[in-house]
Amino acid sequence: MKKNIAIIGAGISGLTLGQKLKEHAHVTIFEKARGVGGRMSTRYADPFYFDHGAPYFTARTHEFQSFLQPYIEDGLVAEWHGKVINLELGKKATKRLWFEPHWVATPNMNSVCKQLGQGLDVRLSCEVAPLTRKQSDFWELQDKQGTPLGAYDWVISTAPLAQTQTLFHTETPLHGAPMHGCYSLMIGFNRPWNKQWIAAKVRNNPIEWIIINSTKPQRNKDVTSILVHSSNHWADEHSDCDMQEAQKMLVEQFMALTAIDSAGADYLSTHRWKYAVIEDRKGDMCFYLDARHGIAATSDWASGSRIEEVWLSANRLAERILAI
Ligand SMILES: Cc1cc2nc3c(=O)[nH]c(=O)nc-3n(C[C@H](O)[C@H](O)[C@H](O)COP(=O)(O)OP(=O)(O)OC[C@H]3O[C@@H](n4cnc5c(N)ncnc54)[C@H](O)[C@@H]3O)c2cc1C
Repeated sequence: MKKNIAIIGAGISGLTLGQKLKEHAHVTIFEKARGVGGRMSTRYADPFYFDHGAPYFTARTHEFQSFLQPYIEDGLVAEWHGKVINLELGKKATKRLWFEPHWVATPNMNSVCKQLGQGLDVRLSCEVAPLTRKQSDFWELQDKQGTPLGAYDWVISTAPLAQTQTLFHTETPLHGAPMHGCYSLMIGFNRPWNKQWIAAKVRNNPIEWIIINSTKPQRNKDVTSILVHSSNHWADEHSDCDMQEAQKMLVEQFMALTAIDSAGADYLSTHRWKYAVIEDRKGDMCFYLDARHGIAATSDWASGSRIEEVWLSANRLAERILAI
């Protein structure tokens, strides 16, 4: 008889696990957000679109390249080309070399996750509450309001480390790489982008990256959608900062760096990622698994910060569960 598996999170990890396990088990994916994607999400503010989590990804292993190949052939994933620069206040901009292809999903970063979600039972806007002790042989899940979500043989979390620790609090000695925050400032102009560069790596500044989202393939080029990522260090130092205040500080830095007058922007908004990326991963763990209790977990804190590493680790975990 097929097992019931609950997966918490519909980012790339949860959806990859779902696709791998769905032929062998009854899989249900719970996602607290209104859409799939997690940190590969896109902010829609028509006519502006911002991939406000991961702006791009790289593919270094044959396994991930093979996974991407059909998507590349279908145009769902495309290479993002163009001039990239280094920026520093008071210094002349210099050209920055990218030594490997930088890939994006099209028309938005969440498109790959939307595709992976096809054929899966994904319950959106459903936040799973911390697990209570296993009843007989099952985990009886419920949402934050106490509504029952069913009984499961296995529960797999793909939430960030701190959230996974809360979900599994009674059962697991979980540890992983510490996670850091990031502010994403989104700026839109109702005019095409008129500079030569597509992205800027910023040095010695609260801002780490400036990404011209509208220069990516299959984006609306009649408008300019700019994404500004703060440094993780600055975000952690300003984690309790009022959002408007953080936005004001980042806008000032952005204007000083680029001389683009954001006061005249047609769209301006800021998102704070409490758990954006990991600093550095130590050790060999790429997922957590407790077969006796039927719980498992994976995400960047267990594997590595890049989308490719997260995807590889979700595959390894699915294989282990299938073997069990
Ligand atoms: C600002 C930023 C920049 C980045 N830059 C890059 C980059 O350049 N290149 C790169 O490769 N990677 C980058 N990353 C990292 C990459 O985005 C992540 O490693 C990857 O997307 C993680 O995927 P995941 O599925 O493991 O986790 P997530 O995408 O975080 O998915 C976990 C999901 O679980 C859901 N969830 C949590 N708790 C619950 C609950 N109790 N109930 C229901 N749902 C729950 C969340 O809403 C979320 O959707 C970046 C990330 C950020 C935020």
